[in-house]
Amino acid sequence: MRVGVVGGGISGLLSALSLEREGYEVVLFEKDKIGGLCRSEKIDGYQVDIGVHAITMLNNGPLTRLLKKYSKYLPNFRPYGGYYVRLNNELHKIPVSLQDWLTTPIIPHKDKILITTKIMDLMSTGFEKDVSVYDVVKTLGLSDISLKFFDTISYFLSGENMENTPLWRLFTGAGYIPEDDILPFIYKDSKINPMKSILTKKINPERIKSILSKGFLKTIKDGSKNYISKFVSGGRYSTQGYPLGGIQSITNCILNSLENTEIKYEEVISIEKEKSYVIGTNEDSYNVDMVVFSAPSRTLPDIAKNIDEIKKLEKHLRNIKFTNSLTVWFGIDEEKNPLNYVGSEIWIDPPAWAKCITNYDKSLAPKGKALIGVSFVNKTEKEAYEAIEKYLNIDVDKADFLHIQKAVPEQASCCIGQFFVYPKINDSFYVVGTDADPRSMGITRAAYSVEVMLSELLNIANCQRFNLKRHL
Ligand SMILES: Cc1cc2nc3c(=O)[nH]c(=O)nc-3n(C[C@H](O)[C@H](O)[C@H](O)COP(=O)(O)OP(=O)(O)OC[C@H]3O[C@@H](n4cnc5c(N)ncnc54)[C@H](O)[C@@H]3O)c2cc1C
Repeated sequence: MRVGVVGGGISGLLSALSLEREGYEVVLFEKDKIGGLCRSEKIDGYQVDIGVHAITMLNNGPLTRLLKKYSKYLPNFRPYGGYYVRLNNELHKIPVSLQDWLTTPIIPHKDKILITTKIMDLMSTGFEKDVSVYDVVKTLGLSDISLKFFDTISYFLSGENMENTPLWRLFTGAGYIPEDDILPFIYKDSKINPMKSILTKKINPERIKSILSKGFLKTIKDGSKNYISKFVSGGRYSTQGYPLGGIQSITNCILNSLENTEIKYEEVISIEKEKSYVIGTNEDSYNVDMVVFSAPSRTLPDIAKNIDEIKKLEKHLRNIKFTNSLTVWFGIDEEKNPLNYVGSEIWIDPPAWAKCITNYDKSLAPKGKALIGVSFVNKTEKEAYEAIEKYLNIDVDKADFLHIQKAVPEQASCCIGQFFVYPKINDSFYVVGTDADPRSMGITRAAYSVEVMLSELLNIANCQRFNLKRHL
């Protein structure tokens, strides 16, 4: 059975590796550079990642599960450290637990009481799925700094401002609510029957039935005891890490594990369904029995024009919202490094996320130099330079090294009303990537979608094998 994997980012590579190991013949198409956003570039003695990265859910998440099962090599992750807010040139822990909120110096005392009371309130009474972070905070009469804090955290978790970020994303991101409680509703919105999907294998079908019949608000309300206990105990960042050798080392582990996958550096311009599928590139056409599409699914209506299931999804696919990011990387003398700790920090005006990757691995910069990355959402280079000067007192134009990256971090931002395509389009056409699963973010989200794709695809393959045996 021959599978065509379109796109060689982390989701395409994980798909190729797992399918190869499951006995499929794989041909992978990449129009640009293998690794996609999960990649690093070597420039002037520095090694920069595409964007500032933290890899989440390392102990119990989908990336680790897939790599442990299928990869010959595993990245060597270093503990990620803390998350901080930089204010008036001081670092403060980002508040997550009840105690953090009550003791944080970043917001006025009055706001602490209002926020913590509201969080407990929302957990006890429940809230609707389309309630935004802003819908809640605007009712509290918070100070400007607290509003900016919520806006920044929203950008960080969903790629969108607080007006467009669902409250559930904030609560799952903070670790108060398990994502599985929310997932049945998201799939239902995407016109997928969660009872028929892979969810039935991961979550007890009776539980899904009960969740859906209760509705969103009551599901939250019924979980309140657990959520409140999570809120009170806190401490959820224990499973994050950064790989030695940079983000590229994750891609390298997979690339070096591939044995039979054929890689074609060609852009896929058409996929047509005939007896099997015909994948067309500018150079040639290829027959495959199955397709796994890991490029942005909003491009599918133009690429896979004659596939009925895609036509039906066309409006949803074309309306998928995404966010643009800008990352400024700069190198400075190690002794002048203002981020000389393990972890990362956010700035709230404008929202930004900064990290020094040589704190994890000195080999990513020339000897004696520190390499810092700062990622912004929807900002110009000028605005980004001004923010770096304001927060770190560094004129990046005079830095030892300067490199700018523009990228779309996720193929779908996690905003209100967002459509996520379910990985199984039909028995022989699958979609993976960050627009094919609403859980978590980035690389972890991409890996989740690959797990769902695999499970659906292998389930069908097993059924076919079973039928075959019965007929024999
Ligand atoms: C600033 C920034 C910060 C980030 N921070 C984090 C973080 O902290 N943690 C985290 O987990 N993730 C983070 N990410 C996101 C993460 O890197 C990506 O979400 C993830 O790598 C996406 O993987 P993917 O395979 O789904 O998509 P991509 O990496 O986009 O791969 C898709 C591939 O398909 C190829 N392609 C597209 N069209 C075609 C075509 N027609 N034919 C052939 N090939 C095609 C593309 O060239 C690309 O290589 C960040 C990203 C950025 C930019």
